[in-house]
Amino acid sequence: MSTTEQTYIMVKPDGVQRGLVGEIIARFEKRGFKLVALKMFTPSKELLEKHYADLKEKSFFPRLVAYMLSGPVVGMVWEGLDAVKTGRAMLGATNPLASAPGTIRGDYALQVGMNVCHGSDAVETAQHEIGLWFGGEVNQYKLSRQEWIYEA
Ligand code: UDP
Ligand code: MG
Repeated sequence: MSTTEQTYIMVKPDGVQRGLVGEIIARFEKRGFKLVALKMFTPSKELLEKHYADLKEKSFFPRLVAYMLSGPVVGMVWEGLDAVKTGRAMLGATNPLASAPGTIRGDYALQVGMNVCHGSDAVETAQHEIGLWFGGEVNQYKLSRQEWIYEA
């Protein structure tokens, strides 16, 4: 069953440098999701190593951390129906060449090590990432356009 969820979406350094922050925010807004947290970060190596802890044994891990340290990132939390899975679908595949046109990576990226945007891969991961980046602190408010997005 689909439920209301929160997901952690992060524009990576290449996305910030290429001027894609507004575009990525716009896609989530227009889809109907509610923005509940937003911040630009210059993350520490320690934070990135925690964020990507599941990948620390991978050969690409040092390159990944260096890439994520190459400039500021924009982190956000989006809330709504099935937000985690839908956010991943909007992102496309990890490898941009395998991402369908119409997805963020499928529209704006070509290589896996420069794939513009992060999205949580599961509800538990999302809660963990929201804790890491925002200390779990998100905003609660009623979105006035909600009645025009969700059936009564
Ligand atoms: N990555 C990489 N090479 C790979 C796989 C992943 O550089 O072969 C990078 C890529 O930036 C990816 C990130 O590591 O987004 C995290 O990998 P994950 O498998 O979690 O993919 P994602 O959840 O971002 O789609
Ligand atoms: Mg991942």
